[in-house]
Amino acid sequence: MIDRILERAKEGKDLSDEEFLELLRIDDDENLDKLFKIAAEIRDKQSKTIKLTSTVHITNKCQIQPRCGYCGFAEETSSKGYYNAFYKSDEEILKAVISITDAHIPRVSCSGGYGYKGKQAINACRIVKENTNLEILVNVGGDLTPKSIDKLAELGADTICCNLETINEEVFKKVKPGDSLAQRIETCERVCEAGINLSSGLLLGIGESPEDRIKHLRFLGTFKTLEEIPIMGFNPYEDTPMANHPAFPLKEQLKIVAITRIMYPTIRITMPTPTVGPENVEYSLKAGANNLATVIADNYPLEVKGVGSPRYGNYTEVVNVIEKLGLIPQTI
Ligand code: SF4
Repeated sequence: MIDRILERAKEGKDLSDEEFLELLRIDDDENLDKLFKIAAEIRDKQSKTIKLTSTVHITNKCQIQPRCGYCGFAEETSSKGYYNAFYKSDEEILKAVISITDAHIPRVSCSGGYGYKGKQAINACRIVKENTNLEILVNVGGDLTPKSIDKLAELGADTICCNLETINEEVFKKVKPGDSLAQRIETCERVCEAGINLSSGLLLGIGESPEDRIKHLRFLGTFKTLEEIPIMGFNPYEDTPMANHPAFPLKEQLKIVAITRIMYPTIRITMPTPTVGPENVEYSLKAGANNLATVIADNYPLEVKGVGSPRYGNYTEVVNVIEKLGLIPQTI
């Protein structure tokens, strides 16, 4: 049964939801290896180049109340996170993006909390585009007005990220009681209307079912400028309401990477190094990912606490892993 489904995947045939669910049910190492191998082959057929994305956290001040249950990023949420409120100055943002250019990393993600209607994202985008050749991904969730999206388009923002996390409304409400799934979907639609590439991902292991995950992946296909899907696995951040919620198993996270690759052969699949764990980057590449996010070089001037967990991927180590696998790190 599994062999037949994988054969069809290899031939580029469209798989049914039931077939994808069957792949998610794989629990033996032999079939798992076959699944990952086919996903990696599909990626390699497109390109063996792996994108690297560094990060600038603009601010951890977030007006979402109550806080998302898993959040260790916003101020005073976790002793292992940033904890103290910050808002990076223009000089600090500039210094950070210059250091990213100096490290030959081609792309930066600029992200921040809610409450600014995109103003902080526009300012960061302007600094990046006026001073560097970096590609930029902007992520302030659904906190963007139509005007701010148009301004980002004008400035040449390459990608806007708005993660839906889950499209199971009940789970979303429970885990993100101060946020709105409808507003996030609307933001994704507006990004598409503005002609900007959309990144929108899944946060796995927050109470959604395997069926929800497949439904979510299909739903993302309705966004016409979708170019990137981050696959994040839940990790508990200390002191948060979900501190005792179990971490999402790596094996299951990798299965989602692989089936996303089968469903979307040409899409950019992003593995944020904090949520997979820097030591597991290799497995995510073997499962078909082609972008590693929160990659930090030694010359980086600011403190970084990853979103999803306080860790991050070190540039040199990440590049070594990519090359060891016979893949090509995209550098500038
Ligand atoms: S996860 Fe994002 S939106 Fe939710 S409270 Fe934290 S910073 Fe705000």
